[in-house]
Amino acid sequence: MSNPLSYLHDQIEQWRAEGTYQRLRILESASAAESRFDGKEVINLASNNYLGLTTHPKLREAAIDAVKKYGVGSGAVRTISGTMTLHMQLEERIAQFKNVEASVVFQSGFAANAGTVAAILTPEDHIISDELNHASIIDGCRLSKAKIHVFPHKDVAAAEKILADLETVSGRKLLISDGVFSMDGDIGPLPGLVEAAERHGAIMMVDDAHSSGVLGRNGRGTIDHFGLHGRVQVQVGTLSKAVGVLGGYVCGSRDLIEFLYHRARPFLFSTSHPPAVAAACLAAFDVLEQEPERIERLWDNTRYFKKGLTAAGFNTGISETPITPVIVGEAKTAHELSRELFDQGVLATGIGFPTVAKGKARVRTIVSATHTQAELDRALEVFERVGKKLGILR
Ligand SMILES: *Cc1c(COP(=O)(O)O)cnc(C)c1O
Repeated sequence: MSNPLSYLHDQIEQWRAEGTYQRLRILESASAAESRFDGKEVINLASNNYLGLTTHPKLREAAIDAVKKYGVGSGAVRTISGTMTLHMQLEERIAQFKNVEASVVFQSGFAANAGTVAAILTPEDHIISDELNHASIIDGCRLSKAKIHVFPHKDVAAAEKILADLETVSGRKLLISDGVFSMDGDIGPLPGLVEAAERHGAIMMVDDAHSSGVLGRNGRGTIDHFGLHGRVQVQVGTLSKAVGVLGGYVCGSRDLIEFLYHRARPFLFSTSHPPAVAAACLAAFDVLEQEPERIERLWDNTRYFKKGLTAAGFNTGISETPITPVIVGEAKTAHELSRELFDQGVLATGIGFPTVAKGKARVRTIVSATHTQAELDRALEVFERVGKKLGILR
């Protein structure tokens, strides 16, 4: 009998031949500044654990207590019987932290974006979206069946032109941007976008996945960083990156949140977080407020590491945040650099087309608050040595 899935095998073989087949690296320790992958201790520059909260004692303790008190699962989706006190406490905590009326927690940032965009728009509506917005936003746009208008990266004038052209067209308009872009580490031009949205009566939505815990007072994100409180109607954040656990959330008006409770499909049709996840996230917001020195250290490390990379002669692009790409051009070179770095004790992921443009392949680094200066020095020394060996540096 022939295998009806044989085309998958053929595709995989083709990836192998092209050198784009990706083997998963296995993490054998906690995700931390130094971790063990595939049996090797390396300096970890590939995680989104910006503040070291994945292993914070207060988060661990909160998770363990929740397991002891409430078990390991919530038993149902939120709308049936899976809304626990901890879920409500977390949503209130987030709303208070972000200075908004209300918030709703999703299973992931991906679910928050995709579920929200799909829920609040119809096929008659219009989405105006930065070309480098995250995949979960793109999926949400597609699921909504609204008309999608993509503008060049960070081009406020182009976004405004689209809004102006749509002025006489019926349907609602949603202008949407990442707060921090995940591949280049640059910050979205939110003040300009917000003004454009206001001038044309569009809904403004910002995805702060890489800025929650990183930018703004105590890590309140880009809206706080730019002083745009009250002017961004839909704020998305993640609990999976700097917060160190898992989940996503949407912040906004009480009406927005009530609407999502009734219409967001991941909320309605997928089981809520285990109590340990909600409890650990709750503890994380206490840590953000009580230990601002973590965010200071994150930025000190960011400046130190960026300076080291550029001094060595690497092209670090247009980054303004702890996400620092080392742009090398060809995907093959990026993967070679990543492999060689790993052999010499540094984990940083190679990223090529289609995740980034052709000719802009890179190794992406993310420092954390918990890297010591000695670790960063070692990583810089390895980068320089390998860069010379591969002819990326002269
Ligand atoms: C990581 C990321 C997400 C998804 O968040 P998860 O909680 O990991 O699902 C959404 N948007 C952006 C911009 C991201 O970088």
